[in-house]
Amino acid sequence: MKSMKRIYLDHAATTPLAPEVLEAMLPYFTDYYGNASSLHSFGREAKEAIEDARIKIASLINAKPSEIYFTSGGTESDNLALKGIAWRNKKKGCHIITSSIEHPAILEVCKVLAKQGFEVTYLPVTKEGLVELTALESAIRKDTILISIMHANNEIGTIQPLHEIGKIAKEKDIYFHSDSVQTTGKIPLDVNYLGVDALSVSGHKLYGPKGIGVLFVRKGVKIESIQQGGGHESGLRSGTENVPGIVGLGRTAEMARDTMVEEANRLTALRDHLKDFVLSRIEESWLNGHPSKRLPNNLNFGFKYIEGESLLLYLDALGIAASTGSACSSKKLTASHVLTAIGLKPEYSHGSLRLTLGRSNTLDDVNLAGQAIEKSVIRLRKMSALGPR
Ligand code: PLP
Repeated sequence: MKSMKRIYLDHAATTPLAPEVLEAMLPYFTDYYGNASSLHSFGREAKEAIEDARIKIASLINAKPSEIYFTSGGTESDNLALKGIAWRNKKKGCHIITSSIEHPAILEVCKVLAKQGFEVTYLPVTKEGLVELTALESAIRKDTILISIMHANNEIGTIQPLHEIGKIAKEKDIYFHSDSVQTTGKIPLDVNYLGVDALSVSGHKLYGPKGIGVLFVRKGVKIESIQQGGGHESGLRSGTENVPGIVGLGRTAEMARDTMVEEANRLTALRDHLKDFVLSRIEESWLNGHPSKRLPNNLNFGFKYIEGESLLLYLDALGIAASTGSACSSKKLTASHVLTAIGLKPEYSHGSLRLTLGRSNTLDDVNLAGQAIEKSVIRLRKMSALGPR
């Protein structure tokens, strides 16, 4: 029997490791296995590889190598940024501003900080998922110490006006952090232009390994470590370095720098092709998120009279891997907090489908996906008790 072609359209959940990245990493498992803290040649080899990767990542986001701190991924970077800045600056103030559509790696940290006496304001967003600058300005208080707004949303792909937010934060002398897990390596990003003081990055979203990430921290920012130990990473993040992971992340950064713009243009064309197909062929369907200020690879559709999980299983049976809500929250049956925040009623947000394209996807893939979605939605609606047949 001919095996079915599987099409992966869930690159916001994770990406496959690029073969070039694997190749760069392999010697650091086998030959160059030293501990970067050791003084002998084995240690020096590891240390040099780490510093080389630091330069590559710094260059991708226009930072200085000394402003790059390696962590275990996006979740840890978000934890370190928020707790580290909040704890260190609590004498100055206890107020933090974030948005209502952040990833749980921010929202859950805010809950913990709230229990510790910090006050958190969650900014609403427009129906397209944008934070409004006027709302931000009126939320700022004398005791505001930190603003944390994600660069692009992992569910609906909306890209926030970070440059404008950065200007406001600087004017008011407030630290500005951004979770850029979904944008680094996908769209050009310059920490100085954006005006961020801290920025979270994750390796596995950009064809690098899982379990490695970066927190950019601008020189001079007052931040304290959240885990204690041997004082690695200039004392900010103790723990023996994941050398193969760091080398892999360095290689992904290098590749992203060379290919990002061209790839973003290619994906935007595929994305728009698939969007037009779905919206023109399927009645009572719409696009969640911003029509133009969105990630080149993200589509988030809403379908009336459809239950997202059923649609996902139908698509999976047809070889299409997609997502409803974010992978991290898809085990919960509650409506996505992001879709709720953009004003979708629960019965509409349950019928959402996220498709996120990546390097391996072709025009053929998106055509097959479009046909599979149309077929599945028609079949599910015929069986649906939710609305008209
Ligand atoms: N922030 C955003 C916006 C994400 O999409 C994710 C992953 O889903 C994370 C943080 C967490 O990153 P990691 O999986 O590296 O911990």
